[in-house]
Amino acid sequence: MNADLHCHSNVSDGLLPPREVARRAQAGGVMLWALTDHDEVAGQAEARSEAEALGMRYVCGVEISVTWASRTVHIVGLDIDPLCSVLTAGLYATRNGRAARAQAMSDALAEFGIEDAYAGALRYVSNPDLISRTHFARFLVEKGYAASTSDVFERYLGEGKPGYVPHRWATLENAVAWIQAAGGVAVIAHPGRYKFTPLEFDTLFGQFLDLGGKAIEVVTGSHAPDQFREYAEVARRFGFEASRGSDFHAPGEGRTELGMLPPLPSDLTPVWQRWL
Ligand code: AMP
Ligand code: MN
Ligand code: MN
Ligand code: MN
Repeated sequence: MNADLHCHSNVSDGLLPPREVARRAQAGGVMLWALTDHDEVAGQAEARSEAEALGMRYVCGVEISVTWASRTVHIVGLDIDPLCSVLTAGLYATRNGRAARAQAMSDALAEFGIEDAYAGALRYVSNPDLISRTHFARFLVEKGYAASTSDVFERYLGEGKPGYVPHRWATLENAVAWIQAAGGVAVIAHPGRYKFTPLEFDTLFGQFLDLGGKAIEVVTGSHAPDQFREYAEVARRFGFEASRGSDFHAPGEGRTELGMLPPLPSDLTPVWQRWL
């Protein structure tokens, strides 16, 4: 089963509209697909109808921004009801504040000699409610400040860099509760990206399980191959189901295309067994 359960459209910080992401997923051999835009479900109806027209199975998805232990963690919700008002109200509150943060980022970059970054980033935004660091990164690449978006994060927008502005997102408790209220399954996105100590990781995984979280991403475009093995071991140790997703944002951006990932280790329980 080629399942790709994590990717983005221009409803958040991807470049393509949901229907075009669906076509790319199908071209990549995806059989079960979820679009998981950041903090927004406005693309779900289009994604589902295009996926089904193309003969893919579809589950609705979202990727919620969370602050845990003063750091950002992403929680994916799968098989959610995108019309659930508990979820949509929570996402609305989570998106709120992105505009003020973007202005603060723009001010910080201006002090560093990079002018008009807010206006520049906005040219890459389709959903004005959802301006993200990715949009700033595309503008900085355009202006020649960095060679790639990941280079921008290394130099300007990653934690502790000149354009980084700390932000308070949803709590872990709330994010899991909203996903559950919407009938969905909560999944820890790309754990290998977080800079936690082993003790902090164990605390995060334990709290997530206690809250009713079910799965972690093991095979993701955000993990290097040694991290596939590392988080497979975490899934075994904590009894998590395992998920797989490219975290595709745009053609040529990032490591992975839709559907083009190794399979999960065969002893793990795929989170998608729930939908087969
Ligand atoms: P934001 O929600 O505005 O903080 O932006 C987070 C987004 O930035 C993530 O969803 C990724 O798309 C992107 N991002 C974060 N870190 C990196 C990185 N090191 N390289 C490339 N993109 C990144
Ligand atoms: Mn993103
Ligand atoms: Mn993420
Ligand atoms: Mn993502």
